[in-house]
Amino acid sequence: MKARKGLAAFAIMAGALGLGLGLAWNTGLFGGGSAAAAAQTAQIREEAARRAEHLAFTEAYLDHETREMRVASGETLAGLLVRAGASRDETNAALASLNGVYDPRRLRPGQSVSLFFSDARLTGVAFRSEPGASVTANRTTAGFAAREVLMPLTFENARIAAQVETSLYATALSLGATDREIAALADAFSYDVDFQRDVRPGDDFELVFERYYDDEGNTVRTGDLLFVALETRRGQRNFYSFLAPGDARPDWYDADGKSARRFLMRTPINGARLSSGFGMRRHPILGYSRMHRGTDFAAPIGTPILAAGEGTVVRAGPFSSYGNYVRIRHANGYETAYAHMSRFARGIRAGTRVRQGQIIGYVGNTGRSTGPHLHYEVMRRGQQINPINLQVANGRNLTGRALELFNIERQRIDTLRQVRASETTEAALHGAAAVATP
Ligand SMILES: [Zn+2]
Repeated sequence: MKARKGLAAFAIMAGALGLGLGLAWNTGLFGGGSAAAAAQTAQIREEAARRAEHLAFTEAYLDHETREMRVASGETLAGLLVRAGASRDETNAALASLNGVYDPRRLRPGQSVSLFFSDARLTGVAFRSEPGASVTANRTTAGFAAREVLMPLTFENARIAAQVETSLYATALSLGATDREIAALADAFSYDVDFQRDVRPGDDFELVFERYYDDEGNTVRTGDLLFVALETRRGQRNFYSFLAPGDARPDWYDADGKSARRFLMRTPINGARLSSGFGMRRHPILGYSRMHRGTDFAAPIGTPILAAGEGTVVRAGPFSSYGNYVRIRHANGYETAYAHMSRFARGIRAGTRVRQGQIIGYVGNTGRSTGPHLHYEVMRRGQQINPINLQVANGRNLTGRALELFNIERQRIDTLRQVRASETTEAALHGAAAVATP
């Protein structure tokens, strides 16, 4: 219950940060949000560390006085102790005890150091050695003894299941997720969902992630994201995180072990509006109806354009009515092309190897174009095809032993989800502030 109360307080702060961000998922959003969240996490750690230190000393000395000091510019820990009123002998003894525990030269100007005195005698020194850990040196009958104290953190698999209120981002933050989880969710769905167009208030989402919280329930840090689900007007999609044998990093798979990652992206740009689909249309400049063999995405000049898949650049330069143009050759006879760019990304030229999602250029209005947009083509054996049909070109599917291991992991995650869901229902029935809302 304590944990829940603390989380609610955290949620209010986090919710305030998330307000006003709306559905602006893409450019710059995570940068600003992350900095704010990091500052907040640092503050939570600071407070937790302080509590742990004070607890350590109030247990040892009933009648003690605390002096909060800050390391002055150019000051050593010895200098600080003397400045605070410790004797030479006490200073030397306290410093000697740090041998092998912490090198006091690592202290930086401005860092806070807590000193404890009892009857004008130095009884303890404490400072933060790193996030989540403090060094304490305290007087014992045998002289000073130093140790590093790790803050007590509790681990849980947290589950958030909720309806999108104003935005998925703000709602998830208000329920205790951090930018890390939200960025991972966006990544998992980047092949299926256009967050600006497809996600609406009232849509359902679910996140299961590892969380470490302190004795007051504040999220100190989060671990792996295990499960993401999103139900929009386009249907329900669930993805499980799984590290396949031989892979360096986990990836997202649906319940059948099919990768969420597709061989080619349907939308190789973030934050754009689909302005013209594949098929017959009246050509805006030429004035007569003809086949549009690509997809147009309207976006401001300078918006990054991403390589739709891994491959080799076969052309990068001006190309008649296409303006500044890049073509990439992928596996299995596929190619993708990108037209009307304002400029190319650094290093993009014929022969360059590119990764999926790498920036290859920027939206422009070059060539025969009525306004800033990306014209995107997917070709199979030299013929343009509709990117909507790209599901035939899926990422890999797990098979054999990898699929067996995946199924074990999926069952573990589904069990966690069920357990957490029933706990949330319990809490709601008993009137506690539940982490998740219906
Ligand atoms: Zn076009």
